[in-house]
Amino acid sequence: ATPAAMTVSIGALASRGLLVTRGHAIEALARVTCFAFDKTGTLTQGHMVLKEVYCCRNWPEQRLRELAAALELSSEHPIAAGLRAGVGQEKLPRVTELRVRTGAGVEACFEGEVVRLGSPHFSAGLHGMPVPERVAGWQAAGDTAVALANGTGWLGFFRLTDSLRDGAGAMVSGLYQHGLRLAVLSGDSTPVVQRVADELGINESEGELSPEDKHQRIKDWQREGMHVAMVGDGVNDAPVLAQAQVSVAMGQGTDLARTQADIVLLGQSLTAIVDGFELSRRTMRIVR
Ligand code: ADP
Ligand code: MG
Repeated sequence: ATPAAMTVSIGALASRGLLVTRGHAIEALARVTCFAFDKTGTLTQGHMVLKEVYCCRNWPEQRLRELAAALELSSEHPIAAGLRAGVGQEKLPRVTELRVRTGAGVEACFEGEVVRLGSPHFSAGLHGMPVPERVAGWQAAGDTAVALANGTGWLGFFRLTDSLRDGAGAMVSGLYQHGLRLAVLSGDSTPVVQRVADELGINESEGELSPEDKHQRIKDWQREGMHVAMVGDGVNDAPVLAQAQVSVAMGQGTDLARTQADIVLLGQSLTAIVDGFELSRRTMRIVR
């Protein structure tokens, strides 16, 4: 498009709450054939609320919650905020050697033992036991289960819920009207991811993916000739965003000064993505 048409288009996108940070974004968006979405904090609000705690040891629930809050002290994942909420930060248990495992959880030393807090799959890595039936039930109901374990077994589980983001359903039907391919790529457990996809009417979804798996899916689609837009919260998916032909990050998840995304959604509603896609196509048609 002409520079003037681009300038007008960037302004029109801004008025719809989409901030364009890279020059190629509008042309790339106009060519997109496939939209891939992260789940937590993207299709959902990313306000994780703690609903239930399951202690597997003879501990008071408060002790389990304080250990979880201590482990999540420096994490910026939405789950971390949900686990810190309502726990006083003054007298948290001492944990050392804290390490964040992107897309899996956190690991640290507590009372001389290694502990893990994260996806049941990740935490089970310390002991190899299956997930209790009660917890599988939470996941089947669409809630996220976070597991705490050490080398001898499960210490406990946390059930967290999140709500769909405004405009998610309308965005999905709007994008399908253009004949696009839509998919959810998530690190959360498969039943939870499936549930969100079903609620929104998205045909393709995959759970239990590591950040590397997500990256690989996008590369596979590109090899099939697809032009992929990745929509994420920008918290821990920067490499996945960077692989896509065009990336959209959620404004609240992103440190704007550091963002790697081509476009940042500043407003609340996801329907702006449909507006942005349609506008980019109109812009590119002007000169073709
Ligand atoms: P999504 O694809 O939904 O954005 P992530 O890739 O960020 O999810 O994380 C995948 C899974 O790893 C989460 O569902 C959760 O079980 C676990 N996880 C990741 N980070 C953390 C954390 N800081 N605390 C607890 N669990 C975590
Ligand atoms: Mg994420």
